[in-house]
Amino acid sequence: MLHTRQRDISEVTGKRLDIYDMCIHHIKPRKVQGRNELKKLTLVETEIHREIHYGTSKEYKIEKYRKQLDKE
Ligand SMILES: [Zn+2]
Repeated sequence: MLHTRQRDISEVTGKRLDIYDMCIHHIKPRKVQGRNELKKLTLVETEIHREIHYGTSKEYKIEKYRKQLDKE
């Protein structure tokens, strides 16, 4: 399980995740068409997830994920 593999640590903040305050974010690698098996999932805090999709944070990892979204 993703939950186990990631050891409950947020990939963005490096902090331990609260099971009631986490979201699964789909990481879509750029320039990989029709290869769904390379789609990755990561667990992040609800707040961080909102930042990735709708926020304006300049934090490096949040920006990195946001740029991947923009390539869709
Ligand atoms: Zn997401």
